[in-house]
Amino acid sequence: MLLDMDLGVLLSSLIPSFQSVYVLVFYFVYLAVAGEILPGKVIRGALLSDGSQLRYRCNGLLALTLLVAILGICAKLGIVSPLVVADRGLELLSATFILCVLVTLALYITGRSSSDKSSSLKPHVSGNLVHDWWFGIQLNPQFLSIDLKFFFVRAGMMGWLLINLSILAKSVQDDSLSQSMILYQIFCALYILDYFVHEEYMTSTWDIIAERLGFMLVFGDLLWIPFTFSIQGWWLLHNNKVELTVPAIVANCLVFVIGYLVFRGANKQKHIFKKNPKTPIWGKPPVVVGGKLLASGYWGIARHCNYLGDLMLALSFSLPCGISSPVPYFYPIYLLILLIWRERRDEVRCAEKYKEIWAEYLRLVPWRILPYVY
Ligand code: NDP
Repeated sequence: MLLDMDLGVLLSSLIPSFQSVYVLVFYFVYLAVAGEILPGKVIRGALLSDGSQLRYRCNGLLALTLLVAILGICAKLGIVSPLVVADRGLELLSATFILCVLVTLALYITGRSSSDKSSSLKPHVSGNLVHDWWFGIQLNPQFLSIDLKFFFVRAGMMGWLLINLSILAKSVQDDSLSQSMILYQIFCALYILDYFVHEEYMTSTWDIIAERLGFMLVFGDLLWIPFTFSIQGWWLLHNNKVELTVPAIVANCLVFVIGYLVFRGANKQKHIFKKNPKTPIWGKPPVVVGGKLLASGYWGIARHCNYLGDLMLALSFSLPCGISSPVPYFYPIYLLILLIWRERRDEVRCAEKYKEIWAEYLRLVPWRILPYVY
């Protein structure tokens, strides 16, 4: 799409319009209000180094369902166009980018001036402005009692679905709805809905427990997730001539289903193990190293089978686009690089935290992500 546009048109579409600002304001206000007032399971977060635990209200699925219903009704009544995102994608992208910069500058300033000593809010200042702005200063900053880290990742995942739905509406309007688009839409919608069904699992992930909230995370959540994970959808909107054979569709569905089972199974086993280390894994008592690390089930096959499952899912979102262009493969390639990098950082963290227990786990489970390969 970008290659077809001349530079002048491209630049002018990148200038945020008032409408794109209204869309973002509506979206964030809705999420803030819905997050606060809708009912949901309240989950205790990971134990922080000072012994405290944050609480997260996991009502994302209800908030998302309600939002889609409200937007659907408004579209039916002609109050909102379902194409608003598909038609204004670049303006929304640049408005979101500006928002990320402003939010992270505010986080930098408030983080630096904080004298809080708790694990969540204690400022970590290196003195290098760019480093501190990029990686963040505080672990779990809040605004009006909203946990911003949890809020932003939720906004990004929901934004991805909303962008996809608008792309779908556009392809229906253009009479260009293809099998590839339907497959892509179904896989992503299932992935995103599953994320919100299991939203509580997010509370024990690396981003929430270990990463401070700076530009890297805010940009990743608000802009990178919704706008780059939907590249396949944008691409299909402009390239609807992909012919898929029945075996190709079946193979694509298998990659999705197997990827999902591994991804969700591995994350679920770890989550359950953390809650109760005696819960059977695949019907047998778990193999536990040093009383703390799970070494059976998926966690006995490779040390990060959950990453393997996620990579297969990412591939399944791109396969409907065929192999004529590398552009739709941006997401799986990016995820491969990210997860290899992240796995290395997680190993360092776990080696420091678990010491000889971790060394024993490495002996029992030598593979990092894919057995016999890596
Ligand atoms: P993990 O969920 O794998 O969490 C790693 C942590 O789990 C470790 O730091 C350690 O923390 C604990 N742990 C590691 N091994 C064991 C074990 N054997 N037994 C018990 N606990 C263990 O990593 P992430 O948070 O990075 O990822 C979560 C999910 O999010 C993954 O499925 C990943 O694919 C996905 N993801 C997706 C991204 C995307 O862009 N699509 C980006 C990043 C992640 P502790 O100190 O608590 O023991």
